[in-house]
Amino acid sequence: MRLLFALAFFIASSLATQRRYDGYQVYQVKAKDRVSFDVLVKLYNERSDVYDFWTEPRNIDFTTDVMVPPAFKKTFVDLLNAFNMEYHIKIDDVQHEIELSRRDIAPPLAPKKALQRSPGTPRYSLDWTSYSDLPAIYEFVNEIAATYPNLVTVTSTGQSYLGNDMPILKISTGGSGKNAIFAEGGIHAREWISPAFVTWLIRELVENYAAHPQYVDNIDWYIMPVLNPDGYTYTFSPTGDRLWRKNRAPNSGVCVGTDLNRNFDYYWNTGGSTSIECGETYHGGAAFSQVEARNVRDAMLSVANQTKVYFSFHSYGQYWLTPWGYTSALPDDYQDLYDLAQSAVDKLTAVEGTPYTIGTSTNLLGLASGCSDDWAKGGAGIKYSYTVEMRDTGKFGFQLPANQILANNLEVWEGVKVVAEAVMLM
Ligand SMILES: [Zn+2]
Repeated sequence: MRLLFALAFFIASSLATQRRYDGYQVYQVKAKDRVSFDVLVKLYNERSDVYDFWTEPRNIDFTTDVMVPPAFKKTFVDLLNAFNMEYHIKIDDVQHEIELSRRDIAPPLAPKKALQRSPGTPRYSLDWTSYSDLPAIYEFVNEIAATYPNLVTVTSTGQSYLGNDMPILKISTGGSGKNAIFAEGGIHAREWISPAFVTWLIRELVENYAAHPQYVDNIDWYIMPVLNPDGYTYTFSPTGDRLWRKNRAPNSGVCVGTDLNRNFDYYWNTGGSTSIECGETYHGGAAFSQVEARNVRDAMLSVANQTKVYFSFHSYGQYWLTPWGYTSALPDDYQDLYDLAQSAVDKLTAVEGTPYTIGTSTNLLGLASGCSDDWAKGGAGIKYSYTVEMRDTGKFGFQLPANQILANNLEVWEGVKVVAEAVMLM
């Protein structure tokens, strides 16, 4: 009987731990020809419950990163060999990487009363040398709004499925008729660098306002730092999953979560997403079936007539992407989007040589329908719609070491400034 209790306790306590990735490997794969490329696309479309494509299969000239569970290693390698595909193992043990990257997480918030700061200074713990959880980010948002009421207004766009607030910051010096930039991050939970950049962008615009007042004097900024607060929280939870991508709303079967960045209503479910609920790119039961996507939609529509640029920040791969994702056809005004992206990337790369590739989502990453950037352009009518896939190119992938946060932010900011300067003249 005692043994039974011990066993039950063991099972209960092992259930209450973060999902482990012992023996999971990340393969970098390159298709040999059209046939082998189609095999990869088939795996991506039909077996994304097993194979987690960290980067989408794009075309036969590019490599793809795939995380493979240990039980499927042999099957996977046999398949690669059968089709003569080139591959190498990029990450030998994902669990080991997760454990290494734990030191990059900021400690949980100290009780408010323990914080001692002088009046007039925002009291927040973010310092962009580590990754911060949702409570720390929301403390930052509220503190920065309370400290700079002349520049920042925080409102709620609604709640997530699990009831987390989804705030939006308006950074503005007031007045009307200004052009606007809408920027968001954190739609994919595991891409921690995204909220780490977007919060830093807020800080730069507000706390460093005096260094470059023109960016706020002439532009209204609408910024949502975490579009997927439930998923983001789950990646930090000791009983969650560091590599979770989707939101946390249940589906009809056992698998939880919709890929919010496949749930937008512009050519929704027309390729590059899956109807498999367990898949990483599950598009949801209908366009805008997910409350988080609807909240962003409504926030964007309410300011769409003044908004010239939409930014969606992601990782990884170092791409500055334009629509479309649902088709390989180019938007009519593609040259305008490309030229501005080129100017931005020139400045970005000049900082420390980080290369970025520019192009449409479909042509660089492969078909992906229902994405927010396609909807921003095609649905909300925002001309310059960009998805920026930040550092790195897969050495660390989603577990970008925290000592790269500031370098990433400084270079991307150079690109954002170029876009902001163009927005002033639009
Ligand atoms: Zn993403």
